[in-house]
Amino acid sequence: METSDRLTKLLQESCDLTNSRVKNLLNDGYNCEKCCNRGWTAQVINGYEVAVECECVPVRNSILRAQKSGLSAVFKKYSLDNYKVSSEWQGKIKKSAYEFLENKKGWFFIAGQSGAGKTHICTGICRELIKAGYRVKYMLWLDEIYKIKKFDEEAENLKETLKNIEVLYIDDLFKTDKNEVPSSADVRIAMEILNFRYINNKMTIISTEKNITEIFNIDVAVGGRIAEMSKENIINIKNEKEKNYRLNFV
Ligand SMILES: [Zn+2]
Repeated sequence: METSDRLTKLLQESCDLTNSRVKNLLNDGYNCEKCCNRGWTAQVINGYEVAVECECVPVRNSILRAQKSGLSAVFKKYSLDNYKVSSEWQGKIKKSAYEFLENKKGWFFIAGQSGAGKTHICTGICRELIKAGYRVKYMLWLDEIYKIKKFDEEAENLKETLKNIEVLYIDDLFKTDKNEVPSSADVRIAMEILNFRYINNKMTIISTEKNITEIFNIDVAVGGRIAEMSKENIINIKNEKEKNYRLNFV
């Protein structure tokens, strides 16, 4: 056997040993048989033993991003693929979601009563963005606005995250406890977050029970930012009697 062949064989043995000994360095719940959950495999390349990143790493990163987004629990339930289209308006919504994902520009705004599938569509969009490597944050309006209005250090940090995160999904914008009109503090905080995202052109997804006209009535500046950034992605689902919706693009 030639010296180089012998060296390669030795190196391969060393790699095999490393690969068999080092296991389960990553305990994120994902199981990869290829690297035994190291995230890399030892391989012989050009006469050297090197650690090569495993193909499970992007998957693990996307799981991590999903966990950080606050949406991982609903990802199993909602995807764009399993959004059922049984009428024309649903088809149009699904189409605009895919178009938004293709362009990855501006904002996505969907208004309609609960049960119209707004959360399903928006979660489906977020899921695709996370898979594509984007950092996404879920903001359930009523919960987060309550935390922000404590005006403590934690509130400031939360607000900064919501302003700066790559993609923000605001669920149920301007929802209030007992169907009251949003307070001036609610409007001010919405404006601070949305205006920052408007100026810095950050992707934002908004679902709400209030249509764009109602948002304008609450606050002209907030409505204006949303209308300008969402343009063709403004969807109003109108409820005509029980479970009978129709669609209105603005
Ligand atoms: Zn792996």
